[in-house]
Amino acid sequence: MESCRGARTALVVGAGMGGLTAASALARRGWQVEIAEISPAGATSGWGLCLTGPSLRALDELGLADPCLAAGYGMSVITHVDVDGRVADEVRLPRLIGAERPAVVGMGRPALYRTLREHADRCGVVVHHGLTVVAVEQEGEQVRVQMSDGTHRRVALLVGADGIRSSVRRLLGLETSVAYHGQMVWRALVPRPPWATGIQQFAGQSNTAGLVPISDSLAYAFLTENGAEWSVLPDVELVPRSRQLLVGFPGRVEEIRSLLAAGSKSVVRRPVLTAFLDGAWNRGTGVVIGDAAHAPAPQMASGAALAVEDGAVLAQELDCHTSIGAGLDAFVSRRAQRCRTLVENSVAIADLEQAQRYDEAYPLVDACHRQMAEPA
Ligand SMILES: Cc1cc2nc3c(=O)[nH]c(=O)nc-3n(C[C@H](O)[C@H](O)[C@H](O)COP(=O)(O)OP(=O)(O)OC[C@H]3O[C@@H](n4cnc5c(N)ncnc54)[C@H](O)[C@@H]3O)c2cc1C
Repeated sequence: MESCRGARTALVVGAGMGGLTAASALARRGWQVEIAEISPAGATSGWGLCLTGPSLRALDELGLADPCLAAGYGMSVITHVDVDGRVADEVRLPRLIGAERPAVVGMGRPALYRTLREHADRCGVVVHHGLTVVAVEQEGEQVRVQMSDGTHRRVALLVGADGIRSSVRRLLGLETSVAYHGQMVWRALVPRPPWATGIQQFAGQSNTAGLVPISDSLAYAFLTENGAEWSVLPDVELVPRSRQLLVGFPGRVEEIRSLLAAGSKSVVRRPVLTAFLDGAWNRGTGVVIGDAAHAPAPQMASGAALAVEDGAVLAQELDCHTSIGAGLDAFVSRRAQRCRTLVENSVAIADLEQAQRYDEAYPLVDACHRQMAEPA
């Protein structure tokens, strides 16, 4: 049986949050790691995201929580405003990296990508852009991987961190379906109003909206469009349509709406898609992590947390098992239930939102954040 401590070469497919974290965590433990990322320039999407406590806790282990806090906007409370404009609930998020540091950080995706990428570079990870995998074959203890540029690699470990539509998952013969939940989510970068010092969520008559600060000067507005057909709108329709959907909300949504400048290029609209890989996430010495194995709905703002945790836990488990196969089995059995629970709860929250049953959705959000606070 091959020892993990022998041939420590890994190919990670995808330079998103899961891929960059896994690559750095492995490289810090002495692995020689390459990443193949299909996009020519890395993650450049202009909207933000919220890194909850479990993300910060996993990033802290890599020494990256403070750089993220410095590049983003730290917060600890989600305020839910109901259809009448009253504060219905305040979720005090668990501070998992110490009482003196915030519970969550709002960040621009490009800033997060830069932070993770610079760290991977410092750890000696080699990142190739515009490159993917076209075929995979287990040859004894190694995986032979055919690349899209005609070259091939022979590595001890293949990690598919290539998102919800993972090619590696398919190439390893691990299939799952991707579900659409009747919601389209919108994001738009806006100037941060001085009153926005935490996450604000507003219930409307048929949709939900809100604001997440990502720096002293910027925030992202979000809107969840319920009962929507999955469609792609022309870019020119994005600002007028989002402004229209934000009419009739209570509280400060009118102010958020006024911040959406005509002609803004920062508005994006995406379907709410989820996936969960039942059974094994690994075959031979290949494994899938992050959204490729478990993609929750964005309502819990925890997909990145799961992906970052996966990277850290994968490196830990490979380090304490004598064979890669045993390390991968241990990784999957440590992660599967936590990830399944989060995916299922995020779908339940999305369904409750669509049914306007906010009084049931808020306690579930609170309970899930507490559950996620348990060690990974
Ligand atoms: C609208 C929206 C809002 C969200 N908000 C939040 C939030 O606030 N907080 C949070 O924690 N989570 C949020 N999420 C979820 C979060 O974005 C994902 O869970 C997280 O990005 C998963 O990371 P990943 O690395 O597994 O996959 P990804 O981030 O999808 O990265 C996959 C990478 O692989 C690359 N790739 C794809 N295919 C190939 C291929 N064949 N070969 C090589 N490379 C490939 C891609 O280009 C990409 O760089 C949100 C999701 C959505 C859709």
